[in-house]
Amino acid sequence: MAEPSSSRAVAPPSLKDAAWLQRPETRCVFAALTGDGIETRAVGGAVRNTLLGRDVSEVDLATTALPKTVMTMARKAGLKAVPTGIAHGTVTVVVDGESFEVTTLRRDVETFGRHATIAFTEDWTEDAQRRDFTLNALYADADGTLYDPLGGYDDLITGRVRFIGEADERIKEDYLRILRYFRFNAYYGKDGLDPAGLAACVRQHAGLAKLSAERVAGELRRILIAPRAFAAVKALFDYGLLSGVLSAAPRLDRLSRLIAIEEGLSRAPDPALRLAALSVFVREDAPRLAARFKLSNAEQAVLALGADDGLDGELPDEDTAKRLLYRLGPDRFALQVLLAWAGSDAAPDDSDWREALTLPARWEAPVFPLRGPDVTALGNLKGPEIGALLRAVEQAWIDGGFAETREKLLERAKAHMAKASAS
Ligand code: ATP
Ligand code: MG
Repeated sequence: MAEPSSSRAVAPPSLKDAAWLQRPETRCVFAALTGDGIETRAVGGAVRNTLLGRDVSEVDLATTALPKTVMTMARKAGLKAVPTGIAHGTVTVVVDGESFEVTTLRRDVETFGRHATIAFTEDWTEDAQRRDFTLNALYADADGTLYDPLGGYDDLITGRVRFIGEADERIKEDYLRILRYFRFNAYYGKDGLDPAGLAACVRQHAGLAKLSAERVAGELRRILIAPRAFAAVKALFDYGLLSGVLSAAPRLDRLSRLIAIEEGLSRAPDPALRLAALSVFVREDAPRLAARFKLSNAEQAVLALGADDGLDGELPDEDTAKRLLYRLGPDRFALQVLLAWAGSDAAPDDSDWREALTLPARWEAPVFPLRGPDVTALGNLKGPEIGALLRAVEQAWIDGGFAETREKLLERAKAHMAKASAS
């Protein structure tokens, strides 16, 4: 431990065996950004997750070099350097297709949301102090030595998410930290929420309204798929923050049941599905939430399943399930069944619902045998009439259990046309 912060019986481990630290790409970027009095250390998620034995998805670096120097040193080593956020000290260095965000040590002189007036520094403790939580202010150098200027290691191990400095002030600098507080608790928290941080989040919650939709949605997605997602959502609800975030009255029970069902199936969580369970009741909720959070069309299509027009919380019989599978396709069928199951009274390990979920593995939806030209060949029809006729015949085919042949369906089409011209 290079910079002791508190006395403890057991020394924190070295990170030297971490796979990401051993990788040639990481060694290369460390080598490029070391020397001439320049020090570079990994910070944030990579350090935090390594200490907990969890996966590391990206490596962020902090350096004493000024951004321009980072650019020069990286290019001298033959690496690509992109000035992604150079005004705030961030340069992206690319090694063999892998990106590293390298940020110069800084202190925030004045912060307003994302935008801060900053000053570069060579003081690691100052850099640590501008970060949000103690467990996010852990650094590791190229040798794997851990640096812990603010006592974050103890907090990480005991699962305490603590604001650095005075919580109210830190939240007022950037209200996203309220949601980050719940998110980090959902991933790393152990014995409940730190009361000082929680009280500050509650006091400052009105500031959430100032955040951009994208930033809120980004945090919400991550909270919803966290290991302790439900505890975090429940806490947001209990302390009166959730309805402001969602602009809707939530349905906690359906979310909790969906999580239990997914866990029972060892199914990877889908943030849009969980949001649907939590906050979509009627069809109109889906486009409203999608617009509010600027969600993708694919996410909106999943949200729409929350209204559960298909099953209404009832276990489908085989025919109903087939019709649903035909209409939704296998992926959305599974999501719709999961939501209906979560909205029902059935147990999270109910065997009938499990069986219903496996339909796509047992039955492949047939393709409707008629196409536009089949009915245009039957007579003089205009565009919209062709569509309407096809839909009517298709519906009859679905209602009949997809059994009727092409010939039978053509007869049906003819009969429809005869009826239409007679009336
Ligand atoms: P992950 O990448 O797994 O979400 P991370 O901790 O690496 O976790 P990043 O968003 O990559 O998160 O940010 C890197 C570090 O920057 C954080 O660990 C934290 O120290 C700091 N940081 C990020 N966002 C904020 C913020 N809004 N306020 C204060 N510090 C922040
Ligand atoms: Mg990160």
